[in-house]
Amino acid sequence: MAQNHQMASRCMLLSSERLTNSLYHKLLSLPIADKLHVDPESIGEASVDFGLIVREIPVAVLRPSHPEDIAILVAFAYNKFPIPFTISARGCGHSVRGQAMARDGVVVDMTSLGNKTTVSWSQSLGHYADVGGQQLWIDVLEETLKHGVAPVSWTDYLYLTVGGTLSNAGISGGTFRYGPQISNVYEMDVITGTGHFLTCSPHENPELFHSVLGGLGQFGIITRARIALGPAPKRAKWVKMLYSDFSAFTTDQERLISRHRRDQDEVLDYVEGQLFMRRNSDSWISFFSSLDHPRLMSLVTEHELLYCIEVAKFYDECTQSAVDKDLEKILKDLSHGPEFLYQKDVGYVDFLNRVRVGEMVLREQGLWNVPHPWLNLFVPKSRIADFNTGVFKNIVLKKNMTTELVLIYPMNNDKWDDRMSAVIPDEDVFYAVGFLHSSGFEDWQEFDLQNKEVLHFCEDNGIKQYLPNYSTESDWIQHFGPKWRKFEENKAQFDPKMLLSPGQNIFNHNQGMNSKIDGV
Ligand code: FAD
Repeated sequence: MAQNHQMASRCMLLSSERLTNSLYHKLLSLPIADKLHVDPESIGEASVDFGLIVREIPVAVLRPSHPEDIAILVAFAYNKFPIPFTISARGCGHSVRGQAMARDGVVVDMTSLGNKTTVSWSQSLGHYADVGGQQLWIDVLEETLKHGVAPVSWTDYLYLTVGGTLSNAGISGGTFRYGPQISNVYEMDVITGTGHFLTCSPHENPELFHSVLGGLGQFGIITRARIALGPAPKRAKWVKMLYSDFSAFTTDQERLISRHRRDQDEVLDYVEGQLFMRRNSDSWISFFSSLDHPRLMSLVTEHELLYCIEVAKFYDECTQSAVDKDLEKILKDLSHGPEFLYQKDVGYVDFLNRVRVGEMVLREQGLWNVPHPWLNLFVPKSRIADFNTGVFKNIVLKKNMTTELVLIYPMNNDKWDDRMSAVIPDEDVFYAVGFLHSSGFEDWQEFDLQNKEVLHFCEDNGIKQYLPNYSTESDWIQHFGPKWRKFEENKAQFDPKMLLSPGQNIFNHNQGMNSKIDGV
């Protein structure tokens, strides 16, 4: 029996090798042959991601100079090659579970398309930017600032690509007010899985537009997005407040995000939150002055868990004189003690780019390129108190493994568009909870076990994964819920041969599970 199995595996391996060899030679006949790379460095880079947990080896990496190069590749896979091969757009590979990989297929290194941001103005849209899907948000910021404007919706980290975040949602502390990044797109150019190049918007090819946003790369490759801009502020008042009582913490967070009309003075620009423990103090202590460190450490030792609300209010020359008063009004009735409020005044760009500072420190310590068994969730407001007891207290605190950042912050459902593919809980308010674990190469499985325990708690609680990672079709069906049928129909329409983003493991189960790095 075991011998038969081994023989079958070997036969499959040989036929897969023959296929990849023949694919490679066929690819060389294309007019994009000189942009295809098979050197070990290119293949090695495209086989891993920020997670450093999964490895999938592609046949080649395409470094396109124009979007047309991608269309040629996809049209060839769809029309000409007898057995379709998979294609994955890769932004920066900041995924953590192989989502941008393509085993035995072709990875498209989107960044080779270079920088392209054009800022314009129209009567109906005000300022907007046309940006390449490959662009990093930091570059979009730099370019738009030259015009005194900036995107309104951000992620915490700016070295992510526009196409990569729009394929998920793109969330941060501003989402409660401005919606996720996918709610701030007017139009896109997309290469579908049939190799067609289409412009889409809520009015033109709306099915494609809505399916691509939050669509996990399943329906097309975004080559351009037209995104909303607003006036760029100059500076930020950045405040952190500490709570030992979870209910007081969530009540105040929810109160802060309940004021979310875009034009109010008495509204924050950013509301997030974190879980502070003694064990993960390296991830949160640096914000505070060293004079406060002993007091904070004794507080966290006393309470074991502290909850921190983090807010920001942006200002410029015109609002400078009022900002302190406005902030005082917004924060005045909150229930943290006044002695537990810490404030900074920083440049707008420094605020937006704050995670880069932490990245540089970790890089210097050799702690950036390590496995990242992350878990990100959307927890409905009605379950968040149970989540605190069932997960933060009974799993995270008891296991005493978590050394990294744990994020927890609420957002408003009405800032999301249900026609889009992104999946969120069915409640007016829900929380983003992120366990941003780093681990050693030998022990990431232990964090995965903890993640599994958390996911077990989440079953039947209306909790959804953000940046989802599932391995079976039934899990995906459950994840998408009522949206699954539409998701499947859209796949059949825009990528009928299931060529795109196979690393998401939604439609490509016949390829088996991704291989693990330690198993290669
Ligand atoms: P990749 O990982 O390269 O790709 C992600 C998926 O999108 C893949 O399936 C890929 O095939 C597909 N894809 C990539 N480009 C395109 C395109 N042009 N068209 C169609 N499909 C495409 N997310 C947040 O929402 N908020 C945060 O604050 C946040 N902070 C982060 C901080 C760090 C340090 C890291 C590593 C990640 C963070 N993320 C955050 C997650 C991030 O949004 C995802 O990793 C996302 O995938 C973007 O990464 P990327 O651009 O490198 O895309």
